[in-house]
Formats: sequence, structure tokens, C-alpha cells
Amino acid sequence: MSEQAVQIAYLVAGVLFVLALRWLSSPPTARRGVAAGEIGFLVAVVATLLRSEVVTYEWILIGLFAGSAIGVPLGLLVPMTAMPQRIALSHAFGALAAALVGIAEFYLRTPHLSKVTMTAIGVEVVLGALTFTGSLMAAGKLQEVLPQRPITWRGQNFVNLSILAAALALVGVLVADPSQTALFPVVIVLSLAFGVLLIIPIGGADMPTVISLLNSYAGLSGAAMGFAIDNKILIVAGALDGASGLLLSIIMSRAMNRSFRNVLFGAFGKVQAQAAEGVDGAVQTAEPDEAAELLKMARLVIIVPGYGMAVAQAQYMVRQLSDALGEKGVEVKFAIHPVAGRMPGHMNVLLAEANVGYDQLFDMDQINPEFPRADVAIVVGANDVVNPAAKNTPGSPIYGMPVLNVDQAQTVMVIKRSMAPGFAGIDNELFVNPKTMMIFGDAKAVVGALVEELTRSRASL
Ligand code: NDP
Repeated sequence: MSEQAVQIAYLVAGVLFVLALRWLSSPPTARRGVAAGEIGFLVAVVATLLRSEVVTYEWILIGLFAGSAIGVPLGLLVPMTAMPQRIALSHAFGALAAALVGIAEFYLRTPHLSKVTMTAIGVEVVLGALTFTGSLMAAGKLQEVLPQRPITWRGQNFVNLSILAAALALVGVLVADPSQTALFPVVIVLSLAFGVLLIIPIGGADMPTVISLLNSYAGLSGAAMGFAIDNKILIVAGALDGASGLLLSIIMSRAMNRSFRNVLFGAFGKVQAQAAEGVDGAVQTAEPDEAAELLKMARLVIIVPGYGMAVAQAQYMVRQLSDALGEKGVEVKFAIHPVAGRMPGHMNVLLAEANVGYDQLFDMDQINPEFPRADVAIVVGANDVVNPAAKNTPGSPIYGMPVLNVDQAQTVMVIKRSMAPGFAGIDNELFVNPKTMMIFGDAKAVVGALVEELTRSRASL
């Protein structure tokens, strides 16, 4: 394939990546966005493979089969609820690949490296190495093979930043004189160590924001790789990845009430999942038949899905509940909190899978003013995202996090299996609010029972 044709293919791929990001930002076009991204990558990979600089396909094929042997089972077998740690692993692999390419380039080309190339290789290896270990640590924390709690000590930020500064200073020395090859392994080791130290002080609850940030680092490492090996599509894809990961981190920090400065310096590990202190008050429980009676009389019902809906795979039942209520003339809206579930867009994906209409889904800012008008708010396996402590209890780990104002509805129905806390590990005073009825049980079973009650009464009419 001529070099000109390769560059045109890269341009097409770049345009597809931009379109993919554009389309992914809205649920109705998200599927198209995924397809555009996939086609873009296919075009970029095929064009690269057909480039004249490919000497032999032997190792490429081995890599292809080895990667597929790991990637396909990961894609098929890992449940949706474990997606954040799976994504962290993908970042780890991507960053490792970028770091290895940088290391290979250094040893192949030194000492004939221009300052620009050495700078690019330095950035690539530092970011790649720290993202590799950082992402492995993040995956380990989320999978709970490592302790979730933040581990902090005095002077931690100083030590961490000194290690990063030392790695960058050595890269500076290498830019000035690439023949100092003995320094390069030190840069690698310092960067690997920084990745571990960066994650140690961060609590499990903040891990999603960190993963998004590591995604950004992996992208920037890829962009630096593009400069190092003069590959334009890597620069484009890496820059898009870096920028979108950064934006997503900022959006998530806001949604979880973490200052982004804290995210960048890893100081937000101080946010400990405080031991549940217990909430005072009587818990009112209800059975599905009682709840169904109330629902039949409602005019507006707002359904708030959370992580428990994902665990129970209750989205199809929830859709049936919405349909059953709709048939009774009840208006049904879904309230989507930006960090409900365990990954950005988790609830949107599940509800789209169950064919809930996009026009029924409302973001937090849109739906919050509607709660006072709602007769019933049904909380399906959500906890932290509806916890009023975020508004009322200074000192709570989630204080300041924007939450869904379900407590403003006339009646709140909470469907979960027990009084157990959610991800942040704190109690929820909503459960003892006099307006609240707890309907204990697995989300799928309870919502199924509600649907049955509602449709049975329809059949008997
Ligand atoms: P939470 O984790 O706060 O609560 C989920 C609740 O679901 C639990 O209290 C649990 O209670 C209940 N549950 C679990 N299994 C079932 C089941 N089978 N049936 C019924 N209920 C069940 O979830 P939220 O969605 O409210 O909040 C998300 C939390 O996760 C936030 O703290 C957020 O910061 C964090 N986070 C968000 C990420 C994101 O990007 N979206 C990523 C990672 C973390 P019980 O055991 O009693 O049933």
C-alpha cells in the first residue's frame, strides 16, 4: 500500500474516531458511535499492517492470536458489574504496550536520538509505566484483591511528587545527552513505582475517577508514542483519548464532589469509607401488594435505578413495571444519576438494553425539580446516589456530592435486600424517613411481584 494511501486511511480513521466520540455522547446515537469507533480502528490497523515498513508478519500474527486469546474471553465472560476493573486492566495493557514500544525505540535508536524524539520517548515511557502499575493497582482495589481503604502516611504527597520529579529530571538529562543509557532503566523503575504510590492513598470509592484519569494518561502516552515513531493516527487517537479521559474525570469528580486538584495529586484518598454509624428511627416495611395499591393511584412515578438493579439484572422487569404503570395512565420517568452503578453511563446502558425509551430518561439536573411533584419515587437498588447525608450531614464522606432528591417525593419506595450500605459504606437516613417504605428482596423478584400485582388487578378489572 502506498504511503499516500496509508495517510488517507489514517485520516478516515481519525474522522471516524471524532464522530464516534460525538455520537457516544448521546444514548440514541451511542450504538452508531461504537460502530464508528470499531470501523475506525479496523481501518487504522489494516492500513498499518499494509505499510511497506512491516518486515515480517510472523510476530504480528503471534501477537494477534495472543491478544485475542485474552481479549475475547475478557469481553464475553466479565459481567457488567465488573466493568470498571476490566477497563482498568485494558488501560494497563495499553499503557504497557506504549511503554514497551518506547523502551524498544530508545535502545534501537540511541544515541542517534533527536531531542524531540527523546522527549516523546521519555513522556511515553513515564506515562506508560506509571499507568501500567497504577491501573493494575486500581483493578486490584476494585476487585478487592487489594485492600480498598486508602493507605496514607505523613509526607506522602511530597515523596510521591519527588519520585515523579526525579523520573522527569532524568528524562531531561537523557534529552540533553541520550548516550547516558544507564539512566533509562532508572526512569522506568521510578515511573513504575510512582504508579503504585499514586493509587495507594486513594480509597475504593474514588477509583472510577482515577480509572478515567489513567485512561487519559494511557491516551497521552499513546500520543507521545505517535511522535516517537512518527505515526499520525496514534497522535490523533491518543490525543482524543487523553482529552476525553480528562474531561470525563472532571465530570465524574464533580458528580462525586471531589475537587479535580485533589484527583490530580492523589490526595483525595483521605475520603475514607467511614464505618456506618447507624441511623435512628423506625424502618417501615411494605409488601409488593401494598406498594402496588399505592402505585395504581399515582399520577407521576419516578424510578431511580442503581447498582442493585445491575446486580439483579432487573432492568427488563423495571421496563415491564414502567409499561404496566403506563397502561394505567401513570406517567413514568427515570432519574439517572451520573455515577449510579459502577461505571459512567451504566444505567443508560442497562435501560437501553431493556428498550426503555430515551425520552423517559432524565439526568439529575433535569429530574431533581420534578420530585416534589412525584407521587412515588421507586428506588431500585440505589443507595449512595439517593443518600440525603450528601446534603444534610457535614463530615459525611459523601457530603457535597449532588444526589437525587427522592426524599421530596410524596412517597419513597426503596427496593433492596437489606439495610446494608452501598459503595461508600455509609448508612442512609432515607431508609428511616417516615415517607419511605422499604420493600426488602432481590430487585428482580420484587419488581416482578409489583408487575404481577399491577397486571393481575388489570386482568381482574
Ligand atoms: P450503591 O453501591 O450505593 O448501592 C447499591 C445498593 O444495591 C446496595 O445498598 C445493595 O443493598 C443494593 N443491592 C445489591 N444487590 C441487590 C439486588 N440483587 N437486589 C436489590 N438490591 C441490591 O449504588 P448506587 O448506584 O446508589 O451508587 C453508586 C456508588 O458507586 C456511588 O457511591 C458511586 O460513587 C460509586 N461508583 C460509581 C461508579 C460509576 O462510574 N458509576 C463507579 C464505581 C463506583 P443490599 O445489599 O441491601 O441489597
